[in-house]
Amino acid sequence: MNAPQKAQEAMMTTPYYEAVGKEKLVFKAAYNQGLSILLKGPTGCGKTRFVEAMAHELNRPLITVSCHDDLTTADLVGRFLLKGGETQWVDGPLTRAVREGAICYLDEVVEARKDTTVVLHPLSDHRRQLPIERLGITLDAAPGFCLVVSYNPGYQSILKDLKDSTRQRMVAIEFDYPAPETEQTILIQESGVTADTAEQLITLAQAIRRLETGGLREVASTRVLIAAARLTTEGLSLREAARYAIAAPLSDDPQVTAGLNKMIEAYLTE
Ligand code: ADP
Repeated sequence: MNAPQKAQEAMMTTPYYEAVGKEKLVFKAAYNQGLSILLKGPTGCGKTRFVEAMAHELNRPLITVSCHDDLTTADLVGRFLLKGGETQWVDGPLTRAVREGAICYLDEVVEARKDTTVVLHPLSDHRRQLPIERLGITLDAAPGFCLVVSYNPGYQSILKDLKDSTRQRMVAIEFDYPAPETEQTILIQESGVTADTAEQLITLAQAIRRLETGGLREVASTRVLIAAARLTTEGLSLREAARYAIAAPLSDDPQVTAGLNKMIEAYLTE
């Protein structure tokens, strides 16, 4: 299969997403009403996969931007670039989404520079407009456009909290790690491990999640469980896989990592 064919194939296959509650219903309702959507929850619990699945179900293109602390309004909206000796305007991802009526997913939106709210606010309320100051124009969002942002309240700090004025422009859907039976199905589906291996990893994850942070910034996500499960399919033992994919990524503190390794020995077979 050549590259364009592969890309087309990827677009046609429905992203696998295991529903955990009423999130699809709420997303569709908000989407139909032209409301913006905030996905709240810890890292690796399925927010991105959910947006991919919804974009597919609603048959809309999806434009994803991973926000970082240098991300400016110009990165989102566009800028003049020098092309062959001439300056030419190039749309940023948000502008493209507004013009195309795509779903625009701003992952970890609190990381972006504060000045981005200037463009996000008129887009995320009833106006659905994108002001492009450099061009002196304001674009009306094409039908189908939907702004979706994600936010991890666990990282919350005074500097990196989501502004009330931003939150109140959005319908918020809360995410958490899936219930054990659902997470087991996801693990099996995503890695091909046996039900027993998946169950062991989930029991371990639940024990880690019960720790009152215990020096951890984040507990074991569905994502790290999948990574551990995948390593076992390459021949690593379950304990080894968990050490590399769960204990080591979660902490840099040797004592905390040693504690996690002890839990691995207690909960996982060799
Ligand atoms: P987030 O965006 O919340 O950081 P992701 O959507 O990237 O997390 O989820 C991490 C991985 O976990 C996904 O790649 C997927 O394999 C798996 N996953 C988590 N939740 C689900 C779910 N409900 N259905 C299917 N896969 C899921």
